[in-house]
Amino acid sequence: MKLDNLIERFKAQQKNQYQVAATGWKQRVKKLHALQQAIEKTYRKPLQDALLADFGKPTIETDLTEIYQVVKEIKHAKKQLRHWMAARKVPTPSALLGTTSWYRYEPKGVCLIISPWNFPVNLTFGPLVAAIAAGNAAILKPSEMTPHTTAVMGQIIADLFPENEVALVEGGIEVSTALLALPFHHIFFTGSPRVGKIVMKAAAEHLSSVTLELGGKSPCIVDETADIKGAAKKIAWGKFLNSGQICITPDYLLVQESVADRLGQALEKQVRSFFGPQPIASHSYARIVNNSHFKRLVNHLEDALDKGAVLSFGGTYEADSRYMAPTLLRKVPETATLMQEEIFGPLLPMVTYRNTEEAIQYINAREKALSLYIFSKNRKSTNHILKQTRAGSSCVNTNLLQYSNHHLPFGGVNNSGIGKSHGIYGFKEFSNQRAVLKQTFPTAMELLFPPYNSFKQRVANITLRWF
Ligand code: NAD
Repeated sequence: MKLDNLIERFKAQQKNQYQVAATGWKQRVKKLHALQQAIEKTYRKPLQDALLADFGKPTIETDLTEIYQVVKEIKHAKKQLRHWMAARKVPTPSALLGTTSWYRYEPKGVCLIISPWNFPVNLTFGPLVAAIAAGNAAILKPSEMTPHTTAVMGQIIADLFPENEVALVEGGIEVSTALLALPFHHIFFTGSPRVGKIVMKAAAEHLSSVTLELGGKSPCIVDETADIKGAAKKIAWGKFLNSGQICITPDYLLVQESVADRLGQALEKQVRSFFGPQPIASHSYARIVNNSHFKRLVNHLEDALDKGAVLSFGGTYEADSRYMAPTLLRKVPETATLMQEEIFGPLLPMVTYRNTEEAIQYINAREKALSLYIFSKNRKSTNHILKQTRAGSSCVNTNLLQYSNHHLPFGGVNNSGIGKSHGIYGFKEFSNQRAVLKQTFPTAMELLFPPYNSFKQRVANITLRWF
């Protein structure tokens, strides 16, 4: 796309923003409904086909992790929007008697949504739902790595919205950089912490507000009281869904020494039950998105094995189809790149620990995680871990499901993100809380207007003491 066109689209949205903002809840619900119909009905099959073409994503997974997630967000927003948009009265302090105060959410204006490739529909249209609900104009810039899906999403947007309201632009770093140079009112970015820093620096230039939905290494603790078979089933699902290309997937296991062997065996059994003895032949297992990510993962694997890691199961791959087997590695040294970078693939390292304090120390010595999972039947130690560690979200005795509850805020903390999304939290992210105070009668404050004298000093003393 020509960069001049980007600027034109941006300017058109700037011009139109107050018309979009002036819409009431009924009009916004209508737009959300049209988006829902397009995703759920008209474009469901094209989206499924596009994701299959982009990285072999099984159709059921497209239904559940892409289409259903967005439709669920839309249904929730449609139901709640009238309430979210209503002005909220707040109490009046006694010194301000004679006034009333309230606040309401007003749209930020023109917003930029930059999304990654791993759940391209969900992570582009999910934030868009919140942007529309809040009354914004928006430009969407999905990842260049899923071109088929981006093309279908572009068609949906062109079908439903005029360009001066919502526009989708295709392109990679160059387009993203050009967009980031523009004075958007809000930037909602989902991607890596590395690019998150670039986005935040660019936003600082215009003091644009940001939501950064980032990634990192999410630990998964399994202690000796856990139901090992149940934990293995959920972890094998959470780690190997989308071939491990999920921001909130368990990045590595922290397992209490006494149950490490049992968990390893249970995981192997579970992987066989999900994907058969040859996962490469399974229709339920996705591929790695592109050659460069495939090579990155092969390098991680070889580096770990070179440095002495032990392969428990998996470890095979095929470059032509970008297949990498579900893999468990033990005794991975800390110096291995696998233990230093977010894995974002089907390689699962297992680290062992002896007691809870050791596990907590291991976690707290690293960046704050996007998610932290605990499998345990010991309520006291579970609560202790929740209190003594920091993460964007957590699950106890399961994984990934926190993402699906739109009543919960979703997001990271510091290195794993800034700001929250989903439901009301996403709506707030795309809104400015506008405070209004209206005076109807004279207030006591007027007694303190200049010129000052000893009487006013006495009134000030009384105010300080009693109000
Ligand atoms: P990425 O950061 O490489 O790219 C994300 C987006 O930024 C893409 O649209 C890309 O075109 C753009 N981009 C890339 N480099 C850029 C640059 N230098 N300047 C401007 N824009 C640039 O991330 P990715 O590889 O697409 O996705 C994987 C990462 O995203 C992982 O770290 C994962 O944890 C994270 N993620 C987070 C969430 C979440 O909700 N927190 C969800 C999915 C993925």
